[in-house]
Amino acid sequence: MTSVNDDAFRAGLDNFRTLQADQQPVWPDAGKLAAAVDTLGGVAPLVIPQETETLTQRLAAAGRGKAFLLQGGDCAETFAEANADRIRNKIRTILQMAVVLTHGASMPIVKMGRMAGQYAKPRSSNEETRDGVTLPVYRGDMVNQFEFSEASRIPDPQRLVQGYNIAAATANIVRAYTQGGYADLRQVHEWNRGFMENPAYKRYESTAAEIDRAIRFMDACGADFDQLRTVEFFVSHEALLLDYERAMVRMNPISGLPYDSSGHFLWIGERTRKIDGAHVDFLSRVSNPIGVKLGPTTTPDDALRLQEKLNPQGIEGRLTFITRMGAGKIRSALPALAEKVTREGSPVTWVTDPMHGNTITSASGYKTRRFDDVLDEVQGFFEVHEAVGSIPGGLHCELTGDDVTEVLGGSEEIFDDTLALRYETLVDPRLNHQQSLEMAFHVAEMLQKFGESRAS
Ligand code: PEP
Ligand code: MN
Repeated sequence: MTSVNDDAFRAGLDNFRTLQADQQPVWPDAGKLAAAVDTLGGVAPLVIPQETETLTQRLAAAGRGKAFLLQGGDCAETFAEANADRIRNKIRTILQMAVVLTHGASMPIVKMGRMAGQYAKPRSSNEETRDGVTLPVYRGDMVNQFEFSEASRIPDPQRLVQGYNIAAATANIVRAYTQGGYADLRQVHEWNRGFMENPAYKRYESTAAEIDRAIRFMDACGADFDQLRTVEFFVSHEALLLDYERAMVRMNPISGLPYDSSGHFLWIGERTRKIDGAHVDFLSRVSNPIGVKLGPTTTPDDALRLQEKLNPQGIEGRLTFITRMGAGKIRSALPALAEKVTREGSPVTWVTDPMHGNTITSASGYKTRRFDDVLDEVQGFFEVHEAVGSIPGGLHCELTGDDVTEVLGGSEEIFDDTLALRYETLVDPRLNHQQSLEMAFHVAEMLQKFGESRAS
C-alpha cells in the first residue's frame, strides 16, 4: 500500500522546489502559507481526470486539423467580477463566436474559458511607484489586491484558498450555463441575429445568412439531439503560482498518475517557460493537457527542448504551443519554429494568441491593442502554417462579454479618446463583446479558406 505522498515523491512533483521559480510572490508569513496549502490539499478537485483526458483527445484532433480550439476570457479574472452576469456574458460571447467558427471551419470547435482560476499574473516589475510611493506590484487577486495601499499589496496566502472557492463557484455556474439549456444552439443563433441587426456589421451578412439557412434546414428536418442543447466547455488558466498548483494535484485513481485538479488545461507563460525552470519541471509531471506561450525570441531549439521535456512520449493533444509573436513578427518568427517542430518534434497543437505581442500604449496613456493588428497576427499565423504544411489549431483571446472600451478599432470603432469611457481591465486590454464576434467572422473566413486550400 503506497500513500499519496509516496506516489507524489515518485512522480517528483516537488522537484520544482529545487529550481528557479520566476514570478512568485514573496509570501511574508510562512505559517499562513503552510495553512493555506494544507487546506487546499484536502479540497474537492475542480475538474476530474476523465475530463482532462477528453480534452487531450479534443486537442489532438485540433492538432490534426479535425477540430479548432477557441480559448478566451479575461487577462486577469477578479474576485469581485465572479458574478453570474459577467460569467454568463463571457460564456455567451464564446458560444456565439463558436457558432460562427463552426460554420467557417466545418469542424467541431473546442470551447475553453480563461476562467475559474485565471487570478495570478506575471508582471514586468516587482514594484510599482505612484507619486513617489513604491509598493509591491499587483500580481492578481489570488496574491494581493489592486488597490494602491501598503496593506492591499501585501501578498496574502489566504487568497489562494479564497481563489479556489471562487474558482469552484465559477466552474459550477459555467457548468450550469453550458449544460442546463442556456447554451442551446438555436438560442445562440438568435443572439447572433441580434448582433447582425447592427448595420455596422453589414459586411458579415452573407456568412450570417448562410448560418441562418443551415440552422433553418436543421430545424426543418426536426433535428433535436443533445449536442444542440448542451456544449462541452473546458476551463483553463496560466499555471503561475506553484504553491497553489502543487496543492491542487490529485492522483488519478485509474491510471495512478498525478493530475492538476485546478483546471482542465494549464499553460506556462512566456515569462516562465525556461527549460530548466520550476514551471516547466512541475507541469512536465502532471498529466493534464498543457500549453506553452512562445514569444518572438523563441528559437526552434527552445521549442524542441520544451517538447522533449513536456511530452517525451509524444502523446497527441498533450502539448499545445501558443504563439504570441506580434503582427509585425509572426511571418518572420514562426516559419523556422513550425518547420523544425513539424520535421523533428513530436505532435503539437498550434494555437495563436494574437493579443500579447500587440500591446501598445496609446497617446492618451492607456495600455491597449489595435483590432487590426490582432487580426493581422491571426492572418499571418494561417499564412505561415499553410506555407509550412503545419496545422493552425486554435485561437487564444483576451475578451469579455461586456461593452468595455479597451481595444482600439473594430467596426463600431473605438478611438484613443473613447478608451476612457469603459476601460475596466486591471491588467491587459480585452476585446469587447462586439469586437469578439467580429473577430470570429474574420477567423471563420480564414478557416474556410484554409480548409479549401487543403482540400484542393
Ligand atoms: C497572459 O496570457 O495574460 C500573458 C501574460 O501572456 P504571455 O505569457 O504570453 O505574456
Ligand atoms: Mn494578458
